[in-house]
Amino acid sequence: MSICAKSKIFVLVGSPGSGKGSFSEFCIKNFGWSQLSTGNLCRKHVSNNTEIGKHIDFVLKSGKLVSDNIIFDMVREWLIEQINLGKSILLDGFPRNLVQAEALNSLLNEEAFRNICLFVVKFVVSDDIVIDRLCGRLVCKNKNCQAIYSSAKGSLSRPKNDMICDKCLKELEVRADDNIETIKERLKVYHEHEASLLDFYTKKEKNIIELDASMPIKNIFCSFEEAINLMGLDS
Ligand code: ADP
Ligand code: ZN
Repeated sequence: MSICAKSKIFVLVGSPGSGKGSFSEFCIKNFGWSQLSTGNLCRKHVSNNTEIGKHIDFVLKSGKLVSDNIIFDMVREWLIEQINLGKSILLDGFPRNLVQAEALNSLLNEEAFRNICLFVVKFVVSDDIVIDRLCGRLVCKNKNCQAIYSSAKGSLSRPKNDMICDKCLKELEVRADDNIETIKERLKVYHEHEASLLDFYTKKEKNIIELDASMPIKNIFCSFEEAINLMGLDS
């Protein structure tokens, strides 16, 4: 018997490069869940040169956070569209600070979201490992795909063909913010907010699933499956 028969939202908390995106790809493929990556949405706006895109391009390149209002409007619109589909949801990259966590909390208290259970998944990994990973990361140029690969020799995530996406056959690229200077800024911003974010959810007595994110993605996924089975959750 499941302890939570309601729809589930998994808030993924982890530094840049901790594997939240790859983990989401796994859950989509294996469980059919939905993912909202606020980073992917932001990059789509930039690529489509929308009004929002023009406004946030520079922020993304600097590694700082986009304003809470812009992000929250995107999330709210997406969640309202998704909620009736009844699928479990992965929030990848949101909330990223206390203000966003509080805004999400208020939204989930609204009538339309009455049937939601929230869980937090924490990705634990050192900065040294993620810096290495991000320096070798490749992503699909197609903004409707944005699949993630690694250029590291021997990595299981290398594309089958050099610089070509296995999924949509478009070209791969290095993300504009995956340079050492911006990576360090993104890590700094992440560490500024991590404790208050986790504290918020601990005080709300939300279940926090901790994963060793230094492991290969398949192991991380197995640990997650074990954790949700132990908690009596259905996938
Ligand atoms: P990473 O976690 O690897 O740094 P993301 O793809 O999650 O990358 O985010 C890339 C950028 O998009 C962030 O550096 C930030 O500028 C912006 N962004 C994404 N999500 C948020 C958010 N919840 N709040 C503010 N800015 C965000
Ligand atoms: Zn692709």
